[in-house]
Amino acid sequence: MSDNPAIDPTAVPSGAGCAECDAVGGWWFHLRRCALCGHIGCCDSSPSQHASAHAAASGHPVITSFEPGEAWFWSYPDEQFYESGPDLAGPEHHPLDQPTPGPAGRVPADWRQHIHQ
Ligand SMILES: [Zn+2]
Ligand SMILES: [Zn+2]
Repeated sequence: MSDNPAIDPTAVPSGAGCAECDAVGGWWFHLRRCALCGHIGCCDSSPSQHASAHAAASGHPVITSFEPGEAWFWSYPDEQFYESGPDLAGPEHHPLDQPTPGPAGRVPADWRQHIHQ
């Protein structure tokens, strides 16, 4: 993984939340980080699935978790899971005071009914 051309360890995260959800006032369940450009997007359980949408639209094939305590990587084209990967530019996860689902104030009370299983 360390010299994988789909990973740029110098790319910084695009923000503390999903880039597209933040643009429209949406919310997410978990966050994923594009290992190539640093785009932060929401996971496939989230209502809008922006991490996968970014990978499909950009061709950037590898994501890693942006959740505290998670270090795994996932390659879309290979459907390959990795327990860990190279160290990337910080921050390594979203702020600890940002709730899951998040962000604070934008999650509907019936959020469980909007999660993709
Ligand atoms: Zn999103
Ligand atoms: Zn990307």
